[in-house]
Amino acid sequence: MTTISCNVDVIEALTPTVNRVVLTPAEPVTFESGQYLQLYLSDSDKRPFSIASTPAQPQLELHIGGAVADQYASQALAHLLQQHQLKQPVQAEIGLGNAQFRADSERPLILVAGGTGFSYVYSIAQSIAATKVDRPVFVYWGVREQAALYHNATMQQWAAQNSKYRFIPVVQQLDESWQGRSGMVHEAVLEDFVSLEAYDIYVAGPFAMAGVVRSAFIEQGAHREHMFGDAFAYI
Ligand SMILES: Cc1cc2nc3c(=O)[nH]c(=O)nc-3n(C[C@H](O)[C@H](O)[C@H](O)COP(=O)(O)OP(=O)(O)OC[C@H]3O[C@@H](n4cnc5c(N)ncnc54)[C@H](O)[C@@H]3O)c2cc1C
Repeated sequence: MTTISCNVDVIEALTPTVNRVVLTPAEPVTFESGQYLQLYLSDSDKRPFSIASTPAQPQLELHIGGAVADQYASQALAHLLQQHQLKQPVQAEIGLGNAQFRADSERPLILVAGGTGFSYVYSIAQSIAATKVDRPVFVYWGVREQAALYHNATMQQWAAQNSKYRFIPVVQQLDESWQGRSGMVHEAVLEDFVSLEAYDIYVAGPFAMAGVVRSAFIEQGAHREHMFGDAFAYI
């Protein structure tokens, strides 16, 4: 874990409630794909955000928000916006978490994101493509409504790179214009795999989702030691 200072270079809307934030660290930083940083709002208020970019990229990307605007995200964004306008840096701890991508495993992969948990999955998916991982990789992204799939096209392109990669967006609310999967994201995974025994499984999203995933996936054969998600430590 290292404390770093970063300029806030970009804050832009991905959806009406989710923002993309780009930070430029004052010095080169070390972390692994799938780790998170803690943004300092004050000395006693540090908030975790998954890093959407990869260690190979010079800037740090965050996706901040959620389906429902809440203070967790809005206070962090207000701080970032203030520092951006004042041209002052923000402080963060980086290289946190134990749910980073295990590149040395031989097992096929299932990545499951709920809402802005996509940030975590996006970092790992980009590293998989960049290092040409040649194992089956299934990326599931569950959102409440279609409009929240802010990187749908990017992920469709990602899946087109390798015949072993699949991207499965899952929209929770009924929507006549949506042709894809619907319901809760964990239900789609449970429908698609008779057994989850063979897989490495990476998970990020609301705590309630992480809890359901953990118990339901283990019941369907997943090994706890092959399931990775920093939310598990909070529930
Ligand atoms: C280590 C860590 C990293 C974090 N990183 C970020 C970050 O990068 N950005 C950020 O904004 N916040 C982050 N948070 C805070 C928090 O995890 C997010 O605010 C939260 O995931 C946002 O969810 P959402 O509103 O986008 O999802 P929602 O829109 O609430 O849910 C999305 C989907 O998840 C599934 N789901 C939701 N609830 C349930 C349920 N009860 N049962 C089953 N499935 C369900 C459904 O498929 C649903 O469509 C982080 C927290 C921690 C601890």
